[in-house]
Amino acid sequence: MKQAKRRFHSINFILWMSFLSFAAFIILITWVFQSTLLQVFFNAQTQRDLATVGEGMYEDLRRMPLVEGNDYIDKYIRKEQSENPAAQIFLLNGNGEVLYPMYTQEEEEYELSTPPTFDMFAAVRGELEEKPESVGVTVQKSDGDFVFLAKVGSIVSASGSVLSESNDAYLYIDYSTEIASMAMGTMRVQLIMISVIVIFLALVLSALLSMKLTKPITQITKAAQRMATGDFSVNFKGEYSYAEMDALAETLDYAKEEIGKSDELQKEVLANVTHDLKTPLTMIKSYACMIQEISGDNPEKRAKHTQVIIDESDRLTSLVNDILNLSKIRSGMDSLKITNFNLSEFVHTVCERFDYLRETQGYVIERDIEDELYTEADMEKIEQVVYNLIGNAVNYTGEDKKIRVGLKKEKEGVLRFTVTDTGKGIPADQIDTIWDRYYRSSETHKRPIKGTGLGLSIVKTILQKHNFLFGVESEVGKGSTFYVLFPEK
Ligand code: ADP
Repeated sequence: MKQAKRRFHSINFILWMSFLSFAAFIILITWVFQSTLLQVFFNAQTQRDLATVGEGMYEDLRRMPLVEGNDYIDKYIRKEQSENPAAQIFLLNGNGEVLYPMYTQEEEEYELSTPPTFDMFAAVRGELEEKPESVGVTVQKSDGDFVFLAKVGSIVSASGSVLSESNDAYLYIDYSTEIASMAMGTMRVQLIMISVIVIFLALVLSALLSMKLTKPITQITKAAQRMATGDFSVNFKGEYSYAEMDALAETLDYAKEEIGKSDELQKEVLANVTHDLKTPLTMIKSYACMIQEISGDNPEKRAKHTQVIIDESDRLTSLVNDILNLSKIRSGMDSLKITNFNLSEFVHTVCERFDYLRETQGYVIERDIEDELYTEADMEKIEQVVYNLIGNAVNYTGEDKKIRVGLKKEKEGVLRFTVTDTGKGIPADQIDTIWDRYYRSSETHKRPIKGTGLGLSIVKTILQKHNFLFGVESEVGKGSTFYVLFPEK
């Protein structure tokens, strides 16, 4: 078999590509999020948190008397400090010197906190002065940390007088982003690990999946190849893990059976046809020989022998005609010539063709035909149907030699044509086969009309082409009724 070469990728490749692209896409999105967006979100969040803490403290401090060296304020600052470990909180004077918390000697020694330099303080204060309407400002320093600054009032001496201009009190909060940066660094390492794992998993999964998917396909392909070489013993059904494959296997098994059947049928038909062709040919040859050698001079015998030759030739002709007819109708070469005609009259005419049997052999064909029933069909083909059905009834009817042909309106739009005989009927297990095959019941039967064994096949093919319903009702020992439903037109 020659096949056009088309470039298709294997399932393996497609799955591998899809999984890998999917994994790469997810990793890419995570990286973008991680490296840009996360920083932006984090900064915004920090700024908001810092402003909330700062503004809260601003409100608190505004309510406190900002007395110099006040233990209460010191405790307050320290408390806030302990609640916000990422922050360093100071109350500064106008010179940027730390007023609170009031460092103990140890604290100073160990330099536990790093107060802002004056330059730093001055720079932030500059920004605050630019926004006189807001409570405080939040700015980001060059090292990434955030600073909140708000002016909370003036420090007064214990006696209550404002000390000096430089004793303005500022709340200064330095919010370190160091922990967050470290966390992000850890996340980055984790992300690299996750990326590697995801890519590895994508590869493994795609390999496993493609194995699972392709194995049954390969199996089925192999089985189909064997079937193509004529081996119908193959079995497509197997242990497939997904439904579509199971359905495919089932369909292929069904197809295999059907092809197998028609293969069988073809062989059977060929055997039968050859047999049927051979018998008359042998007869023709032997009778011709007999005439040549024995009966040539004896007019009586010669006439008898030539009659056999003529009969057998007729048989051959009708066999060949039937085969041709059947293959012509089946192959669709013979299209239907649909006309509207009087079916009642038509059935009468076909019945009359059997009149000679009444005279010569005593067959009685009773007609029960309603008048003026019309249908639309291919007249020539329907003639074959009616003729074959009546012919079969004549061949297979019982000792009484009675056949009944009926045509009546069954219901609106439907005409029922029937041919009933009183023969021995058709066993239930043969009811289907008689139509389908080049079939002949095994025992020889004396037939008034010569059959070729293709009669019912032709009937079936013609009626199917017309889309007419047909069938047979039969009771063994009592007889059969073949029927066809014609549309009334
Ligand atoms: P044949 O030439 O053998 O009659 P058909 O195709 O017309 O070929 O019929 C096929 C087979 O169907 C017959 O051999 C016979 O066994 C069965 N058959 C057909 N018509 C009847 C009938 N009226 N009664 C019983 N058997 C029938």
